Amino acid sequence: MDSTSRHRTSKKPTSPAAGEAAVAPLPMIDMRRIVKTFKNAAGEFTVLKGIDLQIGHGEFVSIVGKSGSGKSTLLNMITGIDHPTSGQVLVNGTDLYTSLDESGRSRWRGRNLGIVFQFFQLLPMLSLAENVMLPMDYVDLYDFDERPKRAMELLALVGLEKFAHKHPASVSTGQQQLAAIARALATNPPLLVADEPTGNLDSRSADTIIQLFDQLVAEGKTVVMVTHDPSLTERTTRNIIISDGELVSEAVACALPLLSHRQMLEVTRKAQRLTFPPGISILGRDQHVDQFYMIERGVVEIVLQGRDREDVIVTRMAAGEFFGEVELLRGGKSIAAVRAAPVGPVELLTLKRDEFKQLLDTSPLTGDALGRIVQTRLKEHRSLEPRGIRWWPFKK
Ligand code: ADP
Ligand code: MG
Repeated sequence: MDSTSRHRTSKKPTSPAAGEAAVAPLPMIDMRRIVKTFKNAAGEFTVLKGIDLQIGHGEFVSIVGKSGSGKSTLLNMITGIDHPTSGQVLVNGTDLYTSLDESGRSRWRGRNLGIVFQFFQLLPMLSLAENVMLPMDYVDLYDFDERPKRAMELLALVGLEKFAHKHPASVSTGQQQLAAIARALATNPPLLVADEPTGNLDSRSADTIIQLFDQLVAEGKTVVMVTHDPSLTERTTRNIIISDGELVSEAVACALPLLSHRQMLEVTRKAQRLTFPPGISILGRDQHVDQFYMIERGVVEIVLQGRDREDVIVTRMAAGEFFGEVELLRGGKSIAAVRAAPVGPVELLTLKRDEFKQLLDTSPLTGDALGRIVQTRLKEHRSLEPRGIRWWPFKK
């Protein structure tokens, strides 16, 4: 079923190995029930409507959404530039809004976070090297004499060592953004947050920035980037969609990528969440199927019967993959048994048959794509026959 597993929620599966205790490490970012309401003369306007989001150490995450959907507001909750109306944000173990006051947050930000903006925000009267030294001065990190050398090393890292003594206005916009990234790295923070960092750059400069982010992630940093550019989301290890102040389930976005953000959000809201303990049957073979199943977390095993009626695991599916569509689209009973793998619990989002059919009516593209997947899966199942595996329990 590899042909259907291109759109994965997480390209780095985090399921613990068999037998290992499932103690999750503390995430780098942990947002819980974040609500942000702006008040003005016209009244109240809720921009973030209860956001729950966890981002692990070393992830490279893109956040996308229409203009005005709340992306910048969401980032400002992570950086502590603004504060939520309610809810909790922990970054690298620090509770930003209950354990720190405004000036505490500002100092914390200086030491723990690198921020990159769409319009660079370099100080025009300082050289690039002086701009890069500013954060070190601000939080008084590194010896005074060491700072120029460190600034040069960072500028060399982004390929700007020859321009260190130039002012921002005398280098290109792409180079200004590279300098801004060098500045964001000045205090060697574990987390880099970028709000449309390539939004004002040509595609070649944008590519340089993404390569640099890739390299930083490979070195162990966490990068969270808001972007408008769909070609960039393919290069991150995880993509999060925000629609009208709510997050789309990543399982829904992966399973049904051709829906509009609005439709994805509707599916997210409508879907029912089911949890199965390790090893437990989710769907029996020959069972009537009346739901579409999207995997949010964990691993499921697809089980068929061999020649001697023994169980054969023909494939495994992980977060972002789905099942049930073959039966829903062709009618009939389950063509295979599905169970939670022994490594850990499985969380599923399910859509009822009529909700699923309705969805296909409103998105013919999704219907076509699923139709092709059904054909591929049936072909793959048939190819198991020579191995003596019974896959098709009844004649259509
Ligand atoms: P995005 O970055 O996705 O384009 P934003 O997070 O900037 O969206 O804004 C989301 C919504 O919140 C917009 O409708 C915007 O007008 C509103 N908004 C943002 N900041 C403020 C503010 N300080 N006061 C009032 N409304 C705001
Ligand atoms: Mg914005």
